[in-house]
Amino acid sequence: MWFIILSLVLIVPNALSEFRFDNYALYKIILKDVDQVNFLKSLRDSDARFDFWNDPVALSSYVNVLTSPKDRNEFENILKSKDVEFEISTENIQDAIDREVIKTYTRGNIKSMTWDGYYNLSSINAWIDDLAATYPEVVEVITGGTTYEDRAIKGLKISHGEGRRAIFLEGGIHSREWISPATVTYITNELLTNDNEDIKAAAQGFDWYIFPVTNPDGYIWSFENARMWRKNRRPVGEHVGVDLNRNWDNNWMVVGASSNPARDDYAGTAPFSEPETKSLSEFLASIGDKIDMYLSFHSYGQMLLIPFGNTTAPLANYHDARNIGARGMGALSVKYGTLYRTGTIAETICK
Ligand SMILES: [Zn+2]
Repeated sequence: MWFIILSLVLIVPNALSEFRFDNYALYKIILKDVDQVNFLKSLRDSDARFDFWNDPVALSSYVNVLTSPKDRNEFENILKSKDVEFEISTENIQDAIDREVIKTYTRGNIKSMTWDGYYNLSSINAWIDDLAATYPEVVEVITGGTTYEDRAIKGLKISHGEGRRAIFLEGGIHSREWISPATVTYITNELLTNDNEDIKAAAQGFDWYIFPVTNPDGYIWSFENARMWRKNRRPVGEHVGVDLNRNWDNNWMVVGASSNPARDDYAGTAPFSEPETKSLSEFLASIGDKIDMYLSFHSYGQMLLIPFGNTTAPLANYHDARNIGARGMGALSVKYGTLYRTGTIAETICK
């Protein structure tokens, strides 16, 4: 079994939030050398006021950071003191949030799910139920686990018969990354409706286990309260939420995670301390023997990340994984002009 994290471009943010981001500015910081990368890493890790939308890495030429109006001056002074070059790519991120299109799914009409806007959790869940009703021979509604607020992690299994190996797709573990569930539902729709022979072969050749929203509580919160909410919704002391993508029982807290509950990458009190990761991992274990590929969708950045993050030691099938990934990303590039980088987490974002 191997894991891939696919990062996609984020089309940002909504009008419903109680918490607004008026005059929050998005900075584009140009990285010139390793010293600047290291400086920005330490700033990210030491100051929770600055919201890094991507990681400062040597291979990347820039990093985007969201900053509140009251912290902007200080932020710019910090950058200037280290001769870090920056530009302001968005003066008021709330404008971008207000421009986001939120659509409503019409129950019983699977054609009312489209990919030119975002859908809330109940729309996505209703669509999953309707797919099962429309394709009863092929689609089964499945539950991957339970959330802190006692919601089901709802998904679907696409299967054209017994005895197939499996592919596992997961989206929305970081709730604010709305393009992730949208991408996963798009792929689901292609697998069920596209007549292209290659796509049909992929759809029919595997059992597909698909969970568009693996952090349902956080996803709802990002729609109804705070657009930039990333974690789950479990209270931890005076703070709320654990970064579910940092809570798995695999090299927990080794790299790229925080023990500070105030932070967005807070890893939780222990591995699998959260009901979402605990229950989803149990579901995974129940089908683990048949999984050939696991894709987790995030935003943003054009990267196809393969294991591992905690070490540069290659996984057993590193060359296969890298070749398959690079070919896939090459095909995307031909079609869409994207420039995805393929590599391990350790060599791509931890360096
Ligand atoms: Zn993410």
